[in-house]
Amino acid sequence: MSLHSFRHFLICLTVSFLCICITGCSFSFPEESKAAVSSALPASSSFAVTFIDVGQGDSSLIQCDGKYMLIDGGLPDQSQKIYALLKKRNITHLDYIVCTHAHSDHVGGLAGALQIASCDQAFSNTLTYSSKVYTKFVKQLQEHDVPLSIPSVGDVYSLGSASFEILGPTDREASMDENDQSLVLRIQYGSTYFLFTGDAEQEEQQLLMYNSYDSLKANVLKAAHHGSSNGASAAWIKAVQPEITVISCGKNNAYGHPHEKTLDLLKKAGSAVYRTDLQGDITVTSDGSTVSALPAKNADADVWQPGEKGTDSESS
Ligand SMILES: [Zn+2]
Repeated sequence: MSLHSFRHFLICLTVSFLCICITGCSFSFPEESKAAVSSALPASSSFAVTFIDVGQGDSSLIQCDGKYMLIDGGLPDQSQKIYALLKKRNITHLDYIVCTHAHSDHVGGLAGALQIASCDQAFSNTLTYSSKVYTKFVKQLQEHDVPLSIPSVGDVYSLGSASFEILGPTDREASMDENDQSLVLRIQYGSTYFLFTGDAEQEEQQLLMYNSYDSLKANVLKAAHHGSSNGASAAWIKAVQPEITVISCGKNNAYGHPHEKTLDLLKKAGSAVYRTDLQGDITVTSDGSTVSALPAKNADADVWQPGEKGTDSESS
């Protein structure tokens, strides 16, 4: 190679290197900028989720900047508990009520909320369901002028400085189990995420992983189906990568929730676990970048002890 050719080679190499650098910068800058904007929160902002101990059922109260969302309400006999909690916190208005699916251990106690709080919008996975409890819920919504609708996958709603996206069900075939038609949503607050799964079992989880894998990652996971054996798989836990998992189930429940297999998966994945059956209400707060959990009691309970082996319900 002549000196001229060598110099030409060096210039080409330098230009190529600069092109790579410039191109790299032009791609990375908007991403960093986007991240900075999404995690910018007002100084007075606050965010907390209370996973309410409703026995064998689910109920979560989310608050952000004076806005409230109630996801599920436990069995009908938990109505009084929901009513009392809202009263104690002086909450007279809910921005959203979400019924993940029509089973009574999710929809039953929502009646208590409607006795004390007005509500802008109710979401459910269905408008009708052939059960007394669900029919009563729909009637109560009508009596209180609360619109009920089925949200679509990809819909995004705001809750103060937080927002939540509907992720599932991605498929809704009549032949599918009601659990696998649960509404699944992920809340974002700053750069932290909370995933609510209702009773979604592995069929729905497979569809979620196929359709929206990158949207499943969450700092906090509400364990699907009360920590049952069909509420988690290794692939599911790998997709979510939860730092904190909250299991909502009843003390000494007849279903053997939470199941040993699910607890083992969470332990291996390094997730902290909190349980309503052992620790009462679990409050998880976020400052926009980190999350922390505070159980109402028994902070040092043996959360890794599975439920008594019995009939692990496929439907509750
Ligand atoms: Zn359930």
